[in-house]
Amino acid sequence: MTSSAFISGATGFIAQHIIKQLLEKGYSVVGSVRNESKGENLKKNFATDRFTYEIVDDLETVGAFDEALKKHPEVTIFLHTATPVTFEAEDNEKDIILPAINGTVNVLKAIKSTAPQIDKVVLTSSIVSQIDLGSVHTIVDELAWNDLSYDTAKSNGFAAYCGAKTFAEKAANDFVKKEEPNFTVSTIHPVYVFGPQAFDSEAKGHLNLSNNFISELLVLKEDQNAEVPKEYGSFIDVRDVAAAHIREIEKPSNGLRVITKSGDFFSQELLDIINRNFPQLHLTKGRPGSMPFARKIDDTKSRDYLKIDYIDLENSVRDTVKQYIEANDL
Ligand code: NAP
Repeated sequence: MTSSAFISGATGFIAQHIIKQLLEKGYSVVGSVRNESKGENLKKNFATDRFTYEIVDDLETVGAFDEALKKHPEVTIFLHTATPVTFEAEDNEKDIILPAINGTVNVLKAIKSTAPQIDKVVLTSSIVSQIDLGSVHTIVDELAWNDLSYDTAKSNGFAAYCGAKTFAEKAANDFVKKEEPNFTVSTIHPVYVFGPQAFDSEAKGHLNLSNNFISELLVLKEDQNAEVPKEYGSFIDVRDVAAAHIREIEKPSNGLRVITKSGDFFSQELLDIINRNFPQLHLTKGRPGSMPFARKIDDTKSRDYLKIDYIDLENSVRDTVKQYIEANDL
């Protein structure tokens, strides 16, 4: 008998790769989407009866997941990926923070009250729940916590996203402590996620937030004297993030807040990779230079646990850009 998993936010960049890998491994998958046309599009792309969808139009409605879960007594695993992934909002609290916290609590409550057969929950958290926003020099590891206050989190979009991920994870921990459910909750903590979309058709136009570090460079033509952004950070390829979720399902880490990080990047380095692999784009050369700075992340325990041979920056960027060029006729 195949195992069956429920995944929230099935339309997402990371979620689609998780679903793809689960289906390849023989699982059945039920995904939650916000409307029927999004669900039908996914069904067409996955093209198997083992993928079905349920509509959950608002993460925050009390009991949002109850009906969807009642319909699927076969599901024993829940992956919660859905949350607003943005650093810009009209109202940081309402649009970013509350959906993250309330969505997570709604998922856990629904499982406890309507799906007692589910014994594993994996939350897609983020490195931002571990970083110290007050100091870029603090070394981040699996045990570290972002100590952002709620008021500071509301003050700008980036802080709101960092707070949202942190508060949602803390809310899940509080739920487990208080409710003692018969499921485990584990968390995966990706750094910025690069890589191709699960389907070429999804690479048309605007890409998801984290791939913007790459796509924003594709308009910097060599004859326009364009300024290269000075962004930097750590990256992981989406296919490895998906594999980490599946590893957590199949061989639980027992409480490790699993960091997924392949390496560091800065914009000029991304541009060099694109120019090396796609000279036909005639992009600016920029000014070759070295990595300005990167936060130190000690992910030794996570690497020992995951044992994934991570996709490197060159391959991740090349695959992302190749798909983007083809999908957009560049
Ligand atoms: P994404 O492509 O923007 O996917 C987000 C998903 O959440 C989509 O399915 C979206 O639905 C859904 N969603 C957003 N707001 C919602 C709301 N208010 N109600 C219901 N559904 C909502 O983002 P992603 O990059 O795949 O991120 C997935 C997860 O990974 C998130 O939890 C994110 O915090 C985490 N993460 C991402 C990165 C990264 O670099 N990408 C790094 C670390 C952690 P629609 O398609 O209908 O909008």
